[in-house]
Amino acid sequence: MNSVTYASAAPHLRRPAQRSGVLLDSFQDLDRAAATPATVPAAGNPAAPGDGQLLCANKVFKSYRQNKHIIPVLRGVDFSIRPGEFVAVVGQSGSGKSTLLHLLGTLDAPDAGEIHFEGNRIDNLPSQARDVLRNRYFGMIFQFYHLLPELTTLENVLAPKMIGQGVFRYWINKRQHQEEARHLLDLVGLSHRLNHKPKELSGGEMQRAAIARALVAAPQLLLADEPTGNLDRQTGQEIMELLQSLNRRQNLTIVMVTHDQTIAALADRTVRLVEGLVERLA
Ligand code: ADP
Ligand code: MG
Repeated sequence: MNSVTYASAAPHLRRPAQRSGVLLDSFQDLDRAAATPATVPAAGNPAAPGDGQLLCANKVFKSYRQNKHIIPVLRGVDFSIRPGEFVAVVGQSGSGKSTLLHLLGTLDAPDAGEIHFEGNRIDNLPSQARDVLRNRYFGMIFQFYHLLPELTTLENVLAPKMIGQGVFRYWINKRQHQEEARHLLDLVGLSHRLNHKPKELSGGEMQRAAIARALVAAPQLLLADEPTGNLDRQTGQEIMELLQSLNRRQNLTIVMVTHDQTIAALADRTVRLVEGLVERLA
């Protein structure tokens, strides 16, 4: 059991109160409950670095070493996202989109530059603190879902709870966790697939399960790497509608990487990576 909390590893950080609106009954209920829409900057109007950002990357550099060659990927990227924004990161294949997302999610560390979450530097946290950050504050989804094949849909969604709390604490509150997981699976339209294993699900259903898993800790931020990249257009559209609903109705902040312009156009704002830098819009 991991006894180190993100806050104890970085005591200046405190978990903000859970957003109101999370864990409502269905998208229909969410529609009705959406009394206060998310405040987002106008599309195409990048937020300036500084106060009020949820996540901020400042002059981030990243290279990979392959044999004797150094492959520079990010060459001083600036990126920021405000609470409640839905930002798409686009760029050609190999432009460093996944690399940037991994750095933002502390899955990897930059060679230079800094990443801040709620004003606190996170790229240099010890690995246990980064584990806690990812388990409780960030949700992540990927092109190939990364569900555990041995587990059912419900168990996959519960897995982060068990990992985050440890088996004993998880077991004490098992009933409540299961209720929350069922509720989330209902929210993403999967309540009829609770006991299916991933191989018994369609691609769209697997991504819905992965989204429910990413949301189980009520994260502040969803990081999505090509979430529609392995889906047909119609199913991809449905997943995008789900992400848009989570953003607009539950105020979930989302960074989504995609190479697909049509998909990116559904976000509030687009950031393009070109030659290792964020392209400046004219
Ligand atoms: P994108 O997601 O935009 O397609 P990536 O961030 O995955 O691009 O990769 C950017 C570049 O870095 C590519 O040229 C890729 O081959 C290279 N790269 C990514 N990960 C590694 C790694 N672990 N080792 C070496 N090169 C890598
Ligand atoms: Mg990629």
